[in-house]
Amino acid sequence: MTGQRRVIAQVLSEASDHPNVEDVYRRASALDPRISIATVYRTVRLFEAANILERHDFGDGRARYEKMPVGHHDHLIDLETGKVVEFNSEKIEALQREVAKRLGYDLVDHRLELFGVPIKGRGGPIKGRGVSIKGRGVPIKGRRKRGRQA
Ligand SMILES: [Zn+2]
Repeated sequence: MTGQRRVIAQVLSEASDHPNVEDVYRRASALDPRISIATVYRTVRLFEAANILERHDFGDGRARYEKMPVGHHDHLIDLETGKVVEFNSEKIEALQREVAKRLGYDLVDHRLELFGVPIKGRGGPIKGRGVSIKGRGVPIKGRRKRGRQA
C-alpha cells in the first residue's frame, strides 16, 4: 500500500461518524497535504470493492463510508443535525428473517435506515426492550419509561 493510501486507510479506520469523501479528504490532507481528492475517491472505491469499506446512502446525496462493521447494526439518521445513530434491534432482525422466509428466501443481508427528528422536550433515548445503541457498550434493557421533560 502506498503511503497516501495508508493515511486514507488510517483516517477511515479512526472515523466513527460515517464520513463522506470530502470529510475523508479534509482529514487525510491534514495529515499529508500531497493527498488529492482524486486519490481519496480512487482509494475509497478500491476499499469498497475489496469489502474493507461499506458505503451508505443516508439521503443527503453524498455517499458515506464506514469500515466494514464487525457486528451488524442499522442506522437512524437525525434529519436536523445529520447525526447518525447506530443501533441493533433483535426484534427487527427476527422480523426481517421471517418476512424473507415467508417469501421463500433465506435472509443473507439487509440495510435499514430510519430517518427522524428529535422528539421535542426530551434529551435523548429512552429505554426500550431489545434495542441496543452501538457505542454505549451494553444493550438498553428494561421497560419503556416516560422520558424526562426538559
Ligand atoms: Zn454504521
